[in-house]
Amino acid sequence: MSDFLPDIYEVAQIYGLSLRKSRSQYKALCPFHEEKTPSFYINPEKNIFKCFGCGEGGGVIKFKAKIEDKSEQEIYEELKSQKTFQSNKSSHPAESLTSFQFREMSEVIPELSHLERRPNWGIIKQIGNEEYLQFRDKVWGHWLQFLEYEKKSAVMTIKFGIRLNSVNAAIEEIRKREKELGVTLFENSTQ
Ligand SMILES: [Zn+2]
Repeated sequence: MSDFLPDIYEVAQIYGLSLRKSRSQYKALCPFHEEKTPSFYINPEKNIFKCFGCGEGGGVIKFKAKIEDKSEQEIYEELKSQKTFQSNKSSHPAESLTSFQFREMSEVIPELSHLERRPNWGIIKQIGNEEYLQFRDKVWGHWLQFLEYEKKSAVMTIKFGIRLNSVNAAIEEIRKREKELGVTLFENSTQ
């Protein structure tokens, strides 16, 4: 695999394919033909895809070319030139979210449920600047949404704590959650 080629699994995720693990591969509904049951497979080790429905198959360049409706040559040039973009380090907070935070968030946000771990931001940057910005903003939007959910749940915990006369236990529970997630919930909830 050339060092500037992105991981097809990550590319497919960015394009919204809902990938399910199937032995050593991942399967999804094929983005290149209409189907109701998945016959599209990704082999992350070989960095290739194959659809047993329409017969499409190939590497990550072909996948990107087909999905973006560009030539493989164009994609190749893009990927090569974007290699330099990768070294352009950004410190957007979405990129510092941990795998734990991703897991917790994906349990609440169905759209991210296919993300089991922290995405490889370096690879996403290689895929393209626009895709990177879109994905980053999407993740950040979902994270803020998730925090709203957590704040609401903290408010509920306090309310129940007051009703049961166990406010301290409720606060302790919220503090525990704050520690796990690395965010402030209690102050925000009591405002
Ligand atoms: Zn297909």
